Amino acid sequence: MIALNATHDPARRSWLASANTPGADFPIQNLPLGMFSLQSEADAAAPRPAVAIGDQVVDLRALDAAGLFSGDAARAVRAVAPSDLGLNAMMALGNQPASALRARLSELLREGGDSGLRERAGTLLHSQADVRMHLPCRIGDYTDFLTSYPHTERHGRFKGLADPVTPVFHSLPVAYHGRASSIRVSGTPVRRPNGQWKAADGSIQFGAVEAMDLELELAALVGAGTRLAEPVPLDQAGEHIFGYVLLNDWSAKSVQWWEQMLGPFLGKSFMSSISPWVVTAEALAPFAMRAPARRPEAPPLLPYLHSAQDRERGGLDIALEAWLSTAAMRETGSGPVRLAATHLSNLTWTFGQMLTHHCSNGCDLHPGDLMGSGTVSGERDDERACLTEIASAGKEPLHLPNGEERRWLQDGDEVTLRARAGGEGRVAIGFGPCAGRILPALPYPLPKA
Ligand code: CA
Repeated sequence: MIALNATHDPARRSWLASANTPGADFPIQNLPLGMFSLQSEADAAAPRPAVAIGDQVVDLRALDAAGLFSGDAARAVRAVAPSDLGLNAMMALGNQPASALRARLSELLREGGDSGLRERAGTLLHSQADVRMHLPCRIGDYTDFLTSYPHTERHGRFKGLADPVTPVFHSLPVAYHGRASSIRVSGTPVRRPNGQWKAADGSIQFGAVEAMDLELELAALVGAGTRLAEPVPLDQAGEHIFGYVLLNDWSAKSVQWWEQMLGPFLGKSFMSSISPWVVTAEALAPFAMRAPARRPEAPPLLPYLHSAQDRERGGLDIALEAWLSTAAMRETGSGPVRLAATHLSNLTWTFGQMLTHHCSNGCDLHPGDLMGSGTVSGERDDERACLTEIASAGKEPLHLPNGEERRWLQDGDEVTLRARAGGEGRVAIGFGPCAGRILPALPYPLPKA
């Protein structure tokens, strides 16, 4: 468990006014890490490590060159080589050097702290409007879990299953191995895939997939890796979680339902989006909460998935939302519509349990590996965190305020995910947006260039 320290002090404020705005995603208590380049630079310009505060981006390598870091804070920043495309080498060091970096940045950015950065803010800070964000790390492996009972139960009912939630759901955190190569950073357009599915008349079709969906998820990024053949005790799982990002597990549902004899394949792998800023496990320490209660029909947890610490502090007080903006809404100047407002406590399993179960057979995890929570749906209608649930698998269309209907996402639709950790007596911290707009499918086959 990560102890609270001066960086979490709710009274701490930054000399940067935008960091103190109520409702800001990036107050001084957050300090999420990412990789940026400047809009004014060439597309191919190498990304470098940064921290977000208020509406600004702090260039960590420039601060180091200005002599503002020493010790473990410097070690964390210097671990990322100029040729590196992500934070992996910093993450591989585990959470301690990143914690030293966080402490130093908090000191440089706080009101009444070290003035070394404030004096040179003009060259060491950039407006977020002027930067291009990249994937925060190279993601070698991606695993997506299925941990929301209401999500699983609704999908089971749509499929007409007599027992919509199979017993294994209660015994272990179910998952499949996802595709890492097609993960992209927020803002990257999402090309509607071509695929194969079984139509309502029983015929087998191939073409542009109509049944496009979003899935609102939170995902953990692995920091210090684990060793092949060596399991990780539940109370040590947190030592391997560097931080969290938002994940939109874009899904071609008709393809997934037809192909899924051995788990999801092309119905998921065309692309997934993540938010660019890694909210560290340390930043989320004030928001630890009880793990959700076990359902009455669930058997007792096996010892390897149970610990008093995980029960008491394994949950996270994080609210998540999904928003939709259609092309017609943008043309008429109307703002996005909220599709879902849910909470991480709707998940049956904690991230610690997911990681421990993942390694329980000896599978090794590496710095930068991504573990998705699964769709964070709750029991309430407004907590349905994908369109499949909202529109009852296409049977009951969603009616939008401007008169449009949605059974599935259409070309031009833009989905934005958001999340905030909050609560009484704490300064809320946000994740920044995870957005993507659907582009029409490409013709199949592609015409010769
Ligand atoms: Ca998913």
